[in-house]
Amino acid sequence: MLPQNKVPLEIAEYVNASSLEMALEALADGQGTAFAGGSDLWAQKDNGNGRIRSRLVNLNRVSELRGIGESNGIVRIGALTSVSEILESEVLVKYAPLLQRAADHFASNQIRNVATIGGNIANASPAADIVLPLMGLGSEIEICSKGEQPRNLALTDFFTGPGETKLESSELISAISFKTPDSDFHGTFCKSGPRPALEISIVAMCLAGNLRNGTLDNSRLIFGAVGPTPMRCTGTEALIDSRPIDDELIGEALDIMEGEISPIDDFRASKWYRIQMARTFLEQELNACCSR
Ligand SMILES: Cc1cc2nc3c(=O)[nH]c(=O)nc-3n(C[C@H](O)[C@H](O)[C@H](O)COP(=O)(O)OP(=O)(O)OC[C@H]3O[C@@H](n4cnc5c(N)ncnc54)[C@H](O)[C@@H]3O)c2cc1C
Repeated sequence: MLPQNKVPLEIAEYVNASSLEMALEALADGQGTAFAGGSDLWAQKDNGNGRIRSRLVNLNRVSELRGIGESNGIVRIGALTSVSEILESEVLVKYAPLLQRAADHFASNQIRNVATIGGNIANASPAADIVLPLMGLGSEIEICSKGEQPRNLALTDFFTGPGETKLESSELISAISFKTPDSDFHGTFCKSGPRPALEISIVAMCLAGNLRNGTLDNSRLIFGAVGPTPMRCTGTEALIDSRPIDDELIGEALDIMEGEISPIDDFRASKWYRIQMARTFLEQELNACCSR
């Protein structure tokens, strides 16, 4: 039963868009909600927690939002790409196995078949798994709206709070892109939950950068589920950059990282447990860098 102040949300109008133009037209007055896989949206509709507006705009027939490709050193992934398609993509095997590692920790096959990369980003959960490797790869998102040129935004600048982003109600995410990683790019993804997949993260971490002789340059350290949004730990990154990774650096890095994250107690885990898991993941992955 729903709490007294929650009601299941009603949908007054349904648009089954067959082109990007039609989808943007249906969203232009700010009264529409984009529908991709529905794996977040449907749960929110039924529990009354969602932000569903009265017109539902189905994106599934919009071919312009599909496809994964590489051209001139840029990998571009359409927003409607499902988690299963990420796992099956030859382009991503070659350029972004890091992204596939996160996809391999994501839900069940049934959910992977419908859940999209655009939905994972736009839903703006602090525990959105696919966002972490995308930030590790330095991704930008392409945003479009009726009558406007698409605009690009760094994914790290996109989130403003839990469920909150810089996306206007008339806008769609059309694609995600990143530069093809350097040959010495190293990226890793760790996720903690009671089961290896089919679980919302209790803590997730991505560590990425250019790894040469036990030194990680241009490092990116991103955590999920330990703050209001997926977050970069820029202070820890600054410490790690260009310094040989040894026990002293690892000790300092763990303490700085702990000061940067802000986990809470909730029904999934305590703040204390989240801090311990974050420290364990970072220690484990920095140690793994030493041996490479
Ligand atoms: C059983 C279960 C297990 C799950 N496990 C995981 C997990 O392991 N890891 C994880 O990260 N998540 C998990 N999720 C959450 C969910 O599956 C993901 O967040 C998924 O990627 C959402 O994508 P979707 O296409 O289903 O989005 P939808 O539900 O269709 O939409 C989600 C939100 O994004 C908006 N939206 C969708 N596409 C666009 C677009 N192109 N442009 C602008 N806005 C858009 C919608 O309007 C809506 O607000 C799980 C969910 C369930 C039900």
